[in-house]
Amino acid sequence: MLIKNIKSLLQTSSPTKALRGKSMSEMKSIENAWLLIENDIIKNFGSMDTCPDFNGETIDAIGKIVLPTWCDSHTHLVFSTSREEEFEMRLKGKSYQEIAQAGGGILNSAKKLQNTSEDDLFKSAFQRLHEVMKLGTGAIEIKSGYGLSVEGELKMLRVIKRLKEKSPIPIKANFLGAHSYPAEYKDDHQGYINLIVNEMLPQIAKEGLADYIDAFCEKVAFSVSDTEQIIKAGAKYGLKAKIHTNQFNCMGGIELCVENNALSVDHLEVVNDAEIECLKNSETIATLLPSAPFFLSDPYQPGRKLVDEGVAVALASDYNPGSSPSGNMNLVVSLACVKLKMTPEEAINAATINGAFAMELNEEYGSISKGKKANFILTKKIPSVAYIPYAFGSNLIDQVIINGKSI
Ligand SMILES: [Zn+2]
Repeated sequence: MLIKNIKSLLQTSSPTKALRGKSMSEMKSIENAWLLIENDIIKNFGSMDTCPDFNGETIDAIGKIVLPTWCDSHTHLVFSTSREEEFEMRLKGKSYQEIAQAGGGILNSAKKLQNTSEDDLFKSAFQRLHEVMKLGTGAIEIKSGYGLSVEGELKMLRVIKRLKEKSPIPIKANFLGAHSYPAEYKDDHQGYINLIVNEMLPQIAKEGLADYIDAFCEKVAFSVSDTEQIIKAGAKYGLKAKIHTNQFNCMGGIELCVENNALSVDHLEVVNDAEIECLKNSETIATLLPSAPFFLSDPYQPGRKLVDEGVAVALASDYNPGSSPSGNMNLVVSLACVKLKMTPEEAINAATINGAFAMELNEEYGSISKGKKANFILTKKIPSVAYIPYAFGSNLIDQVIINGKSI
């Protein structure tokens, strides 16, 4: 397939490390370009004065922009049902943490998941996966964490494994047994950590169900030393850490993750100068999830400051039924500009190539590069790159191409 007369072909570099600092604002692109796809791979591209003769399927993309598909490196896409009743409780004045302490929140999702079959979980998740693909997502990470028992966590991870087998886009599975303490372990935290370490992890490793390990490092969830036990136990099975931290409190989670070479630290609504200093001298990626504070009316992540200080920043949706019931990465990119004060180029880089790095998929995804998978978004006719985050309420996508095929 040849796509010709592309107004602007975005992000044509293939960096070997996650972008940070000034490089986040650089977006190598070609104006008036062509792009040649062979099977599911990007074969070549260039400016129209070098366009090859081609007899196969050709798309005339005059006035349209081509960019890599979104790489959404943080989601909880597998869940039983939505939680709009808690949304209404919050609108009436209860906080997310108050609802969680009253048995809502993650524990509510866990209870619902317990009573949902593996088949039903798979069906609803597959539908959501298709929904986000149509919104331009071309690679995704999915966490467990609503099981909170050996059986429940294995059920979720087996659903993710089935999704991997059926999905046209790559999926990374992240084991989040340490999402919340189940009620029966309310007063025996070490007992639940032992369950994760001694019962869940060996079985997960045996079945090859996880690529990463996660924990919710937060006052209402797992302490820094709890999280350390989880990270170290995962490392024994070769699982790198991608950790929820600094959503509500600065308590040492970032330092712990950097010390243990975590692939990413995710959330960062609150982050202090010492933590920024620690992050910028590390390879750990800061994954910001602006739709969570949007939905919870919390303070936003200091995206501008993190970029200026030289931290590698990625953007992800945090798609989940409690704090971000949306997997729309177009909205995430808009929020990153409007609320995190990132530029359109920085936000798009954070949601594509840096997202790919945050899932270790950068060799095949995240930019328009020879030999990479042909996963890209073809926009409608739009005036400029900045129009993508600017027109936040419009669907600007004409076609999403996955593995060289329009979906
Ligand atoms: Zn999350």
